[in-house]
Amino acid sequence: MKLLMHMCCAPCSTYLVSSLRKDGINVTGLFYNPNIHPIDEYQRRLDTVNEYSKIVDLDVRFIDDYMEDVWHNYNGVDDSRCKMCYSIRLDMAAKYAKENGYDAYTTSLLVSPYQKHDLIKELGEKFANKYDVDFYYYDFRPYFREGQAMAREMNLYRQKYCGCIISYNERIKHLNK
Ligand code: SF4
Repeated sequence: MKLLMHMCCAPCSTYLVSSLRKDGINVTGLFYNPNIHPIDEYQRRLDTVNEYSKIVDLDVRFIDDYMEDVWHNYNGVDDSRCKMCYSIRLDMAAKYAKENGYDAYTTSLLVSPYQKHDLIKELGEKFANKYDVDFYYYDFRPYFREGQAMAREMNLYRQKYCGCIISYNERIKHLNK
């Protein structure tokens, strides 16, 4: 199977790439995360994906986009903000998979116990239907720690907040308590 894997970041991708390859799946990465702020953090996560791709010889496609205004001006509650965030990224991943001849697409967001897993699954299937491509679903969450350990071994940068400016501000507030 030719699978496109949306990569939210390098650490969350480690377990998926290793496990999918063991199952004989041909994985290509896609970095598309316009939610990440500020710009130096965005660049750092992109660079880390690049660094990781060289270590494990992974072909990664980069769609470089930084939607500053969308998140700066967003004042909705957590659930709707994350729904918008997942939708933007999964819509692009499904579209890219369809337009570039992949059998299916998936996302490294499925490994994180900190994300809204059921919502990601629902939206993954929604955009699969929209573009007529399969969504590869698996609950990778039990392997999150294993993936983080792999990232540590590779000496990859591991971020301390989800990504958007709102999650960044929440992190700063928490540190200043
Ligand atoms: S908390 Fe994470 S998933 Fe939710 S909007 Fe921010 S970056 Fe996106």
